[in-house]
Amino acid sequence: MPTPSPAARTRADACPGVLAPHDAADGALARVRLPGGVVAAAQLRVLAACAEELGDGAVHLTSRGNLQLRGLVREDPRLVSRLGAAGLIPAPSHERVRNVLASPLSGITGGRADVRGLARALDEALCAHPALAALPGRFLFALDDGRGDVAAEQPDLCWVAEAPDHGSLQVAGVPTALACAPGDAPALLVAAAEVFLTLREEGRAGCAGAWRAAEVPGAPARIAAALADDHAGVPAGRELRQRKSGAPAPDLPAGRELRQRESGAPVGPIPRADGGVALGLAPVLGELSAAQLRGLAAAAPETIVTPWRTLVLPDPAPDAHQRLRTHGFVLAADAPALALSACAGRPGCAKSHADVRADVRAVLAQAGGDLPRVHVVGCERRCGAPHEPHLDVVALADGSYAVHDRTVPDLRTALTPTGDTTA
Ligand code: SF4
Repeated sequence: MPTPSPAARTRADACPGVLAPHDAADGALARVRLPGGVVAAAQLRVLAACAEELGDGAVHLTSRGNLQLRGLVREDPRLVSRLGAAGLIPAPSHERVRNVLASPLSGITGGRADVRGLARALDEALCAHPALAALPGRFLFALDDGRGDVAAEQPDLCWVAEAPDHGSLQVAGVPTALACAPGDAPALLVAAAEVFLTLREEGRAGCAGAWRAAEVPGAPARIAAALADDHAGVPAGRELRQRKSGAPAPDLPAGRELRQRESGAPVGPIPRADGGVALGLAPVLGELSAAQLRGLAAAAPETIVTPWRTLVLPDPAPDAHQRLRTHGFVLAADAPALALSACAGRPGCAKSHADVRADVRAVLAQAGGDLPRVHVVGCERRCGAPHEPHLDVVALADGSYAVHDRTVPDLRTALTPTGDTTA
């Protein structure tokens, strides 16, 4: 189904939350926002219990570093009360707008600045502005430590570090001349979001229903101009620099290009800059069982959920690697499971022509060697497609699969190299 144009929209976006779940074919679906992807061990235990007792037994990673519970009973008050008590719904009015990515390896290794803590500061600043509860649920913030990983995820507003002590604002992927210190980045992003809402309310050029910054004509220049005019929302006395016209921009990484060189989703031991070792890992198809959630909670005080359906443990216990292997996590960078992703498919989605996740698991049970990067979907809507180069394989009504212009009898055949698997 094509996305309606901003001018044609008559409703708010339907992104689900915990307080506003989505009705799926397998029950209600609730999305739990994790600004910066950070989730504490105690919160993982609560999520495990909720999945087991109230949902389908699993927690699902999303492409924005959030978590989803499925198979819920709609309006079950126990879910809200348990997640609220665990600190996972800190501002009910702003629940759906707390969409904040941050470079998962920041402060662990690499990057130009340490953005740890900025996601939380941005989240608090967002929730403290009543007007920002009106942001669309699709609106995405990002704090990129300069490696270009989360800047590549098509955020609406992104602060990108250029050096340890400063970075600049990007709007819909377009660099602006507005720069500030890391500590001022949350205020700058909040101010930019307020301008977005103002532009949207003005409704010029039919953008009154805009869900994303890219849908507002000229948004990068207009937001930058509004902020440069009055430093709106930026604390007085703090520095908001604007580069002189014509000054060369620093060598900013082009997000996607850099990400191909420096993976945003490392799996396996990750040497930390301080001499320790962090750990990257992945659940197959981004799906965590209750036992896996408890295993994670026992393995580290804090887990970071990445937008690539992987996890990072900044400070794992000494035996975490072995312990998590027994829980079925993917811990090797060359594991075939890392090449395959899938949409919800049957039974969760009524539109699906196949149980695509079961088909992927069947392929993985016998897979060996290299697989192309493939996203398997149950219909032409192609939900959840990764931003990195990949091949879509689409289930058809007769049980076969379509890959490019071929129709093949099953998923295994679709994944057989034919020399034409580049998207
Ligand atoms: S792509 Fe998958 S999840 Fe999306 S509508 Fe189709 S079957 Fe459903």
